[in-house]
Amino acid sequence: MTDTSTSAAHATTAALAVNTPRRFYRGGERILAFRGLDVPADFDGYRPEDWVGSTARLFAEGGGGVTTLEDGTELPEALAADAEGWFGEAHVARFGGDPNLLTKLLDSGERLPVHSHPSREFATAHLDCDHGKTEAWIVLVAEPGATVWVGFRDALSDDDLAGLVDAQDERLLAALNPIEVSAGDAVLVPAGQPHAIGEGVLILELQEPTDFSVMLEHERFGLELDHAFLGLDRPLALRSVDHGPVDQERLASLRRRWSDVEGSGPALPDEASPYFCAEVVRPVSGDVTVDAAYAATVVVSGAGTLTTRQGTREVAAGDVLLVPHSAGDVTVSGGVTLIRCMPPRVDG
Ligand SMILES: [Zn+2]
Repeated sequence: MTDTSTSAAHATTAALAVNTPRRFYRGGERILAFRGLDVPADFDGYRPEDWVGSTARLFAEGGGGVTTLEDGTELPEALAADAEGWFGEAHVARFGGDPNLLTKLLDSGERLPVHSHPSREFATAHLDCDHGKTEAWIVLVAEPGATVWVGFRDALSDDDLAGLVDAQDERLLAALNPIEVSAGDAVLVPAGQPHAIGEGVLILELQEPTDFSVMLEHERFGLELDHAFLGLDRPLALRSVDHGPVDQERLASLRRRWSDVEGSGPALPDEASPYFCAEVVRPVSGDVTVDAAYAATVVVSGAGTLTTRQGTREVAAGDVLLVPHSAGDVTVSGGVTLIRCMPPRVDG
């Protein structure tokens, strides 16, 4: 590593340690394996999410989640100290010093509950927040037959949906479209679409930076109703849920094979771009140079080098770096694949 770190007040490429707040569902061993770490003796089995470059906090469950840099600075403080350095002028003009993005590694040690996230419009009207939560899943590891679920297959009335939520049984999951996934898949989940992640996948997840979830399935996970419905009346919370249908054509439009990218290219459908960008960088025939950007950069396989104005560093699978805009263009060399998770692009 030859990075020349100037001052803590200046945006500098930072390697990120694991940041795994305790959650209500099991998982986390695939994250440790991916990051090249041993499972600690006191591992509690409830660390299924590694929050990467996070300025967001959990809605409940202790309110953790914010990233702390190696020198002990909390990320929001570091970003505020040099917003233009981290994000570039155009982003700051549009969004201020907010990355407008939450990135996670997620390892499902069990199937997650069926849930959905409100849209920006709903969050603005009812949750006093101008972010909703569109999210996307980039599948890094999947056990054979691993499945995710997105959108109701058939149109439901308000009463149909309320009935399914009342019943708290398997019918809720059965009403969704199942999608069998393998490593190399990507799925965009628009705000409002009910979804679930099955057991046995490690995904790189991009989201709008909130933790608003409507937990349609909550009883078997022991979630409080106030937590399940965001503190709103249930009928209002259920208005944020897309009642369907999501047909096969629509599902296909939400999917991509990120592993097909050679050189560099998007991991997600264009529809994701108002919310976030994920760019695959994979030098297949020679070095690849991509534009300057604030990017939570996850090395997904292999080993190589990453060169910016701030120096050259060796990188290998499982490394996670926060690269600032001020590092300039990024050149990637070697037998390595990385994914840059970035805020929505701002022109100019
Ligand atoms: Zn979700």
